[in-house]
Order: sequence, then structure tokens, then C-alpha cells
Amino acid sequence: MISCKGLTKSYTIGNRRVEALRGVDLSVSKPGFHAVMGPSGCGKSTLLHLLGALDSPDSGTIEIGNQRIDALDEKALTAFRRTGIGMVFQQFNLIATMTARENVELPGMLAGRRGPELRNRAIELLESLGVAERAEHRPEALSGGEQQRVAIARALLFSPPVLLADEPTGNLDSRASEGLWTLLESLAAQRAMTVLMVTHEPAAAAHCSTVFFMRDGRVVEEINTHGMDGGDLAAHAQRLGRAAEAHTPPGPGGGGVNGAAHLHRLRP
Ligand code: ADP
Ligand code: MG
Repeated sequence: MISCKGLTKSYTIGNRRVEALRGVDLSVSKPGFHAVMGPSGCGKSTLLHLLGALDSPDSGTIEIGNQRIDALDEKALTAFRRTGIGMVFQQFNLIATMTARENVELPGMLAGRRGPELRNRAIELLESLGVAERAEHRPEALSGGEQQRVAIARALLFSPPVLLADEPTGNLDSRASEGLWTLLESLAAQRAMTVLMVTHEPAAAAHCSTVFFMRDGRVVEEINTHGMDGGDLAAHAQRLGRAAEAHTPPGPGGGGVNGAAHLHRLRP
């Protein structure tokens, strides 16, 4: 479903070069709800941008749903961005002058669709996300949680097999956040989708079956969360951070972690 190998990406600002990704290997082979965690600046958003084809890597390969997206031409990329992937962000990015329904219809309009079929599809999506009664309201009349649901409905208009979410609850209170994680979890299960979510909340990651831990531009560990709750994940993330500080000089090498039985070390 999602596979990337050796992804690198650097940015140059003035004469300063930032290596945002230093060789990311990540593979999600089954539909479901998966998380990416890691300290601020470790490259999580950069990774999601590359997976969503919003930007291209300096090197490495990306496969989404059996398609090599790092090798597509502009026309194929446009089609991929429209139907192959959905993305949601911390900022909901809804158009303020449009109703919830119109926001959901927008990608369809841009693709040249019109009429009752598009409208019905939008309403059906808003219903399945629990915000049908808000369909004719503008974003300003909606709570943050409702706005994010509308943004998710918009991302799902063309039924992409993969949904990427970059800190989707970063602007929500804890109750709305919990509701959104539960929703993403059930969407992944009901629609057999792959949902990959960046989060810094261990309670969010506890809804996911796999957590990829990133540090310094790499995925340093992949864990199966089976039987772990938010507290276990918080403790694990903390151990990982301490181990990285104690053993890993910045640069190549990867995180050194004392692996518990359920841990699968990617870079020993
Ligand atoms: P995270 O999402 O994990 O906080 P990011 O992927 O946003 O991390 O950023 C990784 C590194 O790349 C950071 O050092 C950040 O400052 C830098 N970076 C990200 N995007 C850009 C950009 N467009 N221009 C310059 N530097 C960037
Ligand atoms: Mg980020």
C-alpha cells in the first residue's frame, strides 16, 4: 500500500542546508490505521508531503498502491493527487465562503464534475462522518472537530486507497481529538483504507496498529502496538528519546534502542 526506500530530502535556506530526510525506509503492507511519531523537526511533515506527491524527493523511491509515484509525469501526478491519495492537515484548509457540502464537492468541481451525483456523494460522505446536519453551514459555524470531519470528507471524495493525516487533531481539544481518532480507526477498518497519521499524542497512536518512530530524518523503529495503551506508548517514546540522546551522535547511525520483546528494530 505504502512503501518508500532510501528517501532523502534537503532544503537550502540562504547558505544553510537542512537535511530533512536522510534515508527513510517505511513499508505499510496492510490497510489499517498507522502512526508516525517523533520529535518536532525530525521530518514527519516532509515525509507526508513526499508520500502525497506534494513535493519530490532528492533520491529514493515511493510506491503508493502499487504505483511508483516518484517516476510519474505531471499529468499522471495530477491524476494521482486527485484519486490516489487523500490528505488532511492540522489546519483544516476549508474555503471560508463555501458551505461544508460545497467544500466536499470542490475537488469534484475542479475535476469537471457537476450535478446531483456529486452533491449526493458529498452528502453521503458528510453523513458517514457524522456531520450531515452541518452540510449547509460555512466553516465558521462549525466546531474544530466538525471542520476536520468535513476536511476528511473532502479528502475521501474520490475514494483514495490511502489517507495521510498530518497532526489532524493539533487544533482540537482532547474530547474532539479522541472522537477523531476513533473515526479514523473505523474509517480504515470499514473502507479497507490505509490511514497514516502523524501525531505526537501517545493516546492517538494507541488507536493505531503500527507506530513508526522517526528521529533525525529517519524511521528508527517500527512497533506493533498490540496490547499497548497510551501510557505504554508514552513511556516507550520517552525511552527511545533517552536512548537516542545517550547513544546516537547526530548523523548516520540511527537510534540505539533496547528492544523489548515486541519491538522490531529496523536499524540495529
Ligand atoms: P516535523 O514535521 O517532524 O516537525 P518537518 O518535516 O516539518 O518536521 O521539518 C524537518 C526539517 O526540515 C526541519 O529542520 C525544518 O525546519 C526543515 N524544513 C521543513 N520544510 C522546510 C522548507 N520548506 N524549507 C526549509 N526547511 C524546511
Ligand atoms: Mg510537522
